[in-house]
Amino acid sequence: MPTSSSSSIQRNERRRLAEARAVRTVFVSTLLFLLGLWGLVAYWGLDSYRETQRHNEDALVRLNRVTQAQTDALFKMAEVFMAVADRWLAARPGIDPRTDADFIALVEGFRQRSNGVIDIRLIDAQGGLFFVPSRGTLPVRDVSDRDYFRQSMAGEPGKMVIADPVVSRLNGHWIIPLAWRLSTPASGVTVLFASIEHDALAQLYEAARMPEGGSIALVRRDGTLLVRAPFNEQVIGKNFSGNYTFTTLLPKAPSGFAMIAASGVDGQRRLMAYSTLPDYPLVLAVTSEFHASLAPWRRHLEVVVGLALILSFGALFFAWRLARSLAVLARHHAELQRLATTDILTGCANRGRFLDLLGSEFARAKRYGQPLAVLVADLDYFKRINDTHGHAAGDAALVAFARVVRSSLRSIDVLSRFGGEEFAILLPNTDQEAALQVAERVRALVDGIVITLPGANLGFTASLGVAALTPADADIDALLARADRALYAAKADGRNCVRAG
Ligand code: GH3
Ligand code: MG
Ligand code: MG
Repeated sequence: MPTSSSSSIQRNERRRLAEARAVRTVFVSTLLFLLGLWGLVAYWGLDSYRETQRHNEDALVRLNRVTQAQTDALFKMAEVFMAVADRWLAARPGIDPRTDADFIALVEGFRQRSNGVIDIRLIDAQGGLFFVPSRGTLPVRDVSDRDYFRQSMAGEPGKMVIADPVVSRLNGHWIIPLAWRLSTPASGVTVLFASIEHDALAQLYEAARMPEGGSIALVRRDGTLLVRAPFNEQVIGKNFSGNYTFTTLLPKAPSGFAMIAASGVDGQRRLMAYSTLPDYPLVLAVTSEFHASLAPWRRHLEVVVGLALILSFGALFFAWRLARSLAVLARHHAELQRLATTDILTGCANRGRFLDLLGSEFARAKRYGQPLAVLVADLDYFKRINDTHGHAAGDAALVAFARVVRSSLRSIDVLSRFGGEEFAILLPNTDQEAALQVAERVRALVDGIVITLPGANLGFTASLGVAALTPADADIDALLARADRALYAAKADGRNCVRAG
């Protein structure tokens, strides 16, 4: 008889563990994949965020530099003209610049070259304003109350004053007044006055500023706002010296880059590149709106996060499907296992399963010196039952035998159909005497079975061979051989009896 050394219980346990491991591997790999994926997304997000900010800073600093050069050129043009005019008048004492044809030509030439952005006027010592050329000897306006007049009169001659922006009393336009006190008054004219058209500078800034929410502002070093794009009349001439830029940034460095939590003009969070003009007390601040400056980054991030989400859900779905398939496989495997170890007709263990279990019980009993017994039962004259009552009646007898015998055994005993009408019973922890008692009980129970057939009641008997483990039994084959021999002895002794081997 073949034997099996490995226990099928252990095999089952190993398989169950392998299945659990497979499911765990699926979930751990999925988790690792997701961690890696989102780690990558986070890394990319942070990296591209920094890259975008660097790019924004570069762009703002560049824009600041360009705008500053243009602004500086405009102020320089006015300053150079006034310096030249001062020298020109000083070199020609006695002439009246209001009416002198050469001076008027000089001013006209300058107006044209500044494209009408800068206009030149004259102011006498009392604050009377004259056009060039002047229509008469009476001033067109009294500007003695104006900041540009007072500042230039209070300061030294030969220096350009950049005064508070004002609305022109002549044309209602905002202007940035520049004043220059002549080193030598010429026929009563004391101050040269150059007005820069606010709109000209505002348009320049408007065209240059960052498209979405960007701003460019020209502010005097004392905090007075001169020009800002986008245009906002409310803030022209206002003082912003209390702003972070003036209280904190400018004292530390004349130019730089910073994040402004809330803009003084509109409360927006802004990125700002600021610089102080080298020759004038002017600060140019170029900003971009923080939120808008991150728009391209946010768009890319949305795409990447979207793709990562799709991948994540895909991976989770795949893992779930895989785990489910593994569970189904495990169920199928268990069912196959059951079918492979069970006798279909009687539902008791088949020969293979019996040999597996006998193998492990044999090893255990040997190791711990515990008793172990095997019964072999064979139905008597079974061929006759088949022949007389039909094969179905024979099957019914086999089923009845299994049912009755199983119900009389302990749960640790194993009943198996060994083949045909031969059964084997494994009795763990049972010595020969107890095994004989069990065998006798089985025999008596079988003898009492009555199967009701159409027109007849069928009874049958069984012969049993008993073998209990002895130290001489080297393997299960030796034990089974003795049980077989005992069964033959029972058959020889007239059947329906029990013999021990
Ligand atoms: P003995 O008392 O010496 O054991 O005589 P027996 O007739 O029982 O023994 P034998 O070996 O001559 O016959 C066994 C019969 O069991 C032969 C076979 O047809 C029948 N048999 C084997 N398996 C099945 C089965 O699954 N169903 C049925 N109905 N009969 C079976
Ligand atoms: Mg038989
Ligand atoms: Mg037989």
